[in-house]
Amino acid sequence: MAPNLSKADKARFLKVLNILRTEFKCAFPVKIRTLPKEKFLGYYGLTQLIDGKEPYFLITIRRDSYDVMFETTIHEWSHALCWTLVQQHTTDEILWHDESWGISYSKIYSRLIDNSSAAKCSA
Ligand SMILES: [Zn+2]
Repeated sequence: MAPNLSKADKARFLKVLNILRTEFKCAFPVKIRTLPKEKFLGYYGLTQLIDGKEPYFLITIRRDSYDVMFETTIHEWSHALCWTLVQQHTTDEILWHDESWGISYSKIYSRLIDNSSAAKCSA
């Protein structure tokens, strides 16, 4: 797990991962790893389907502040959630962020962001 996060942020991040794993199950298990900034060339995250006997999604997140890592994680998880052959065979940014990705992202977003802000507003 990301060594740059405070203990409290690490706990918050694990909570988010837990919600994603239980409420937004993907076609294959999802493994998350974080890498230091210097290993990334201008992007924040990456989702790959690692094919084999037991396929899994590998989501790589750039180590950053909690907020940036949170945003990156839900963005990447949305890719895993709606993964199709399109993603498997193209690097086209527009195809990667098509309607199905948008729907997946909005579902996760409203679960993890809208709900908490609504809770804050009604308090
Ligand atoms: Zn993307």
